[in-house]
This record gives sequence, C-alpha cells and structure tokens, in this order.
Amino acid sequence: MLTFPQLPYTRQTYEDAAPKIQEMVERFKNAKTAEEAKTVCLNMDALSSNFIADYIVCYIRNHLDTSDKFYEDEQAHYDEIMPRVMEEFHAWTNALLETPFRKELSAEYGEIGFINAEIAKRSFSPDIVADSQEENALMTRYTKLLASAKIEFRGEEYNLAQMGPFALDADRATRKEATEATAYWSIAHQAQFDEIYDKLVALRTKMGKTLGHDNFIPAGYDKQGRNCYGPDEVAAYRAAVLEHIVPLVVKLKEKQAARIQVEEIKPYDDNLLFLDGNAAPKGTPDEILEAGRKMYHELSPETAEYIDAALKLESFDVLAKPNKAPGGFCYTIDKYKIPFVYANFNGTSDDVETLTHEVGHAFAAWRAFNYPISAQREYTFETAEVHSMAMEFLTWPWMELFYGNETDKFKQAHLENALSFLPYGCMVDEFQHIIYENPNMTPDERNKTWMELENKYRPWRKNEGVPFHADGRRWQLQSHIYQRPFYYIDYCLAQTNALAIWALSQNDWKDAWQKYFAFLEQAGTMTFVDLTAGAGLPSPFTPDALKLVAQAVENWL
Ligand code: ZN
Repeated sequence: MLTFPQLPYTRQTYEDAAPKIQEMVERFKNAKTAEEAKTVCLNMDALSSNFIADYIVCYIRNHLDTSDKFYEDEQAHYDEIMPRVMEEFHAWTNALLETPFRKELSAEYGEIGFINAEIAKRSFSPDIVADSQEENALMTRYTKLLASAKIEFRGEEYNLAQMGPFALDADRATRKEATEATAYWSIAHQAQFDEIYDKLVALRTKMGKTLGHDNFIPAGYDKQGRNCYGPDEVAAYRAAVLEHIVPLVVKLKEKQAARIQVEEIKPYDDNLLFLDGNAAPKGTPDEILEAGRKMYHELSPETAEYIDAALKLESFDVLAKPNKAPGGFCYTIDKYKIPFVYANFNGTSDDVETLTHEVGHAFAAWRAFNYPISAQREYTFETAEVHSMAMEFLTWPWMELFYGNETDKFKQAHLENALSFLPYGCMVDEFQHIIYENPNMTPDERNKTWMELENKYRPWRKNEGVPFHADGRRWQLQSHIYQRPFYYIDYCLAQTNALAIWALSQNDWKDAWQKYFAFLEQAGTMTFVDLTAGAGLPSPFTPDALKLVAQAVENWL
C-alpha cells in the first residue's frame, strides 16, 4: 500500500475526462444485459474515483505546504474546470435513471443510489444556471462584507474572529463592550445585510418556482440531498426540542448564571460557562497525538486497526508546521482507500476535538471502503455528523488522558454546549421556513420573526438594551442563513443521535458503542432514518430520543 506522500499525481483535464465520461454514458445506455450494465457502473466508479483522487491529492498537498507553487497552480486549474466536469457527471446521473436494468442494479447495490440520483436530477435545470451564478455572487458579497469588518474596540481595530475572545472575557464589562462594538459595526452595515438577503430570498424563490415548486423550501431540501424526511417531520422534531430540551436548558442557564455571577443571562453572558475559563488539555501537541493513539487502541479492535493504518499511511497530518494552511478537515481518497485527517495541533482543546470529531469522520470512511460502489459509501450530512459527534461522546472514558483533573469540567461544557445548541439550531431552521414561506416580508418583519423565535427557543436570554440583539438582527451574522439554507437542522438531528448514544453509554458503554458501530457500518446503503432504526436508536422525529436525552442529562448532573 502506498503512503500519502508516495501517492502519484497527474493533472486531470476537462479535455481528457469529458470524452471518457461521455463514452461511459453511451456504453451504459447501450448495455444489452444487466451484467453489462453492472460492469459499466463499476468502470464508471473507477473512472470518477481516479479523477477525484488527483483532485483531492492536489487539494491536500496544497494545504500541507502553501509555499509549493506547483500545487497552488494545480489547485487554480481545478477551480476553473470543476463546474464543467460536474456537468458531464450529471449526464451519467440522467442515464442511470433511464436504465431498464434498475431492478437488477438495485438488487445488487441497493435502491438508495437511484433515490439520490432522482433528487440530484430534480435539483438541476439549465433554466436555473444564471440564477445560481447570481446567487453565488451574492453569497460572495456576504462573505466579503463579513471579512471586511473593522471593529473599533478600546483604541484598536479588529476583525470579527479577533473579537471572539473578548466576548468570552471573564470581566463582564469587557464582554459587554466587545459585544456592543461588534453590534455597532453590524448596524452600520445593516442596509447591505438587508439588501443581500432580500435578493437571495427573491432569487431562491424564483429558482424554486422554476423547478416546479410553490416556493424555495422543497428545492432547499433537495439541495441538502434529503431522502427520508420533509418539513413535517422537521416541524415535529422542533416541537420535541421545545417540549423536552428548552426547559432543561433554562435550568442549566440558571446554574450557569450563578456560576459566572450574573443576575440574568445577557447575550454577552450566554457562551461563558466558567469564570476561570474552559478546561485545557495537558501536554504538548505530540503528547496529545500519542494519547489519541492509545485511546483508539483501547476503544475497539476496529479503531485500533484504523489508527495504526492511518499513521502508517501518513494520512494523519495533525501537527502544526511552517507553511501549513490553517484549518482542520477529513477528506477521503477512495481510489487509494485513504481517509485523510488534516489539522494544526496547537496544544488547545481544538486538538482533542480533532482527535474525536474528525477521526469519527475518518473511521466511518475507512469502514465504508468495504462497499464496492461509491453510491453505497456516500451518506447525507446528518449521517456524517453522527459519525463525528457521537465519537466525541463515546471517547468520554478516555478524556482523563487529555484533561487530567479538569476532565469533569470538560465533560460539563461539552454536554451543556451540545444541549443548548439544539434550541438555537431549531430557531435558525424555523426562521428560514417562515422566510421562504413568506418571501415578501420586509426586513423589519424578518427581524420581528427572529425576536419571536428568540423568546420561544431561548427564553433565558435577555436581549433588552443590547443594540443589534434587541432589534432581532442577530441572524445576520449566522452565515448559514445566507450561504447554506436549511443546512442547520442537520447538525441538530446528528447531535440528537449523538446525545442518544451518549445517554445509552451512561448505562452501558459497550451497548452504545455497538449501536454506533451498527449505524456506521452500513455506510450510505440506507437513509438516515433507516440507519437510525436499524441500529436500534430512537428516531429524532418522535419525542422518544429527546426524552431519553433529557432524562440522562438530569441524572448525570
Ligand atoms: Zn463534522
């Protein structure tokens, strides 16, 4: 087996790829027997994984060493050709849906590939291409607006990210002043925030109608690739969060207020869990990495096998180095059966999070290599985030390796953050449903809607007197609302499964691990709903899962 640094690289071009894909499409259309159709499917999979392997190798190497001009130029090349190549792949999707051998192919590889192909097909029409380009331009404007932020604070100038630590300062006056400084900048640019969103809502509504819907919502669900639930199930989920989780978070916030010595939780208090800061891992980045290796060895034979292979294949590059680009991610190179974990360890709790969250993704990808066809290995977002978020909880018994005598403090923050995220995620989701059902709302009506949702989902948060927040404008800094409509609920659904696994692990860790493993081992061969049921986990679309979680949290605290 080749290690990551040994992997060969060849530039893939549109001129080379397009005729090959077209030939595959023709061969598939002309297949005379089911056996022939299957062979073409496998050939097509090999062709696309070959193309994508070079693309990902380039992407990772470009990140590993930003001073390497070669991969920088290669990356620019892919940025340019990828949209055209994707159009060729789209022709394959269409051919797949027209095959007379669907029954035979489904029997071999499962029906899910066809279900997902149908969603991909109805999400696209040549008639929305111009609107999509305009949508991209508006989203870029939003990104640039956020990136342009110059916030005056105590005589210095900061960007939005740099303001983060001040908003978590132990001194309340500092938190308040920092939050207000960000608010004043946002208010000064509110005309732009409103204009960009107005145009996005109008464009998306238009695209929804072009694709044959009454509004944007069904198109938004399709864009997320949702194949097993719709707005009704999501509404039932939000209702369950309101009933079982919001009252619990209210109680936790009362304790938090006492702990951080404030009488009521203002927006600038909400994220501060401890006056003396969050738990920090002990040891150097190398020691954290070594503790991670030990943890995965003890956790299960399968994770031991994964971590050994990952280190041997050098597909686990997590220590910070000169010229390495910032960030963390996990990308899978199917052709060489390598899930690549990328991070920049710096001795903070982010390192431990990479070891648990990103390794959850990588471990799932590693196990999915057991399936022959990419359609069986690919899963939707909420499923992928179960792999990572549940791994964060299943590694709790080893957290002392990282946090020592601060382990309980780490666990408390992890659990409280996971829980209080659910109401927030639901409000971001409900907001967007209301907006796209009523695309002609004025900016003031939108803000009023946000404020009503604040009071419904986060009643502990006292926004009065805090500029921007008190006007119901906080949503304008939540980038997903502009850039990834309807994405947010995926995190909530995944976190709900992860918390249910955590709740089970409190009684019987082994049972919880087995259910997690059963969920993960099916890779993308089933829908999220079927994976959840198949693993013996309660459905997040009934109150069962959240009831279980609320009960377990009460017991734990
Ligand atoms: Zn993730």
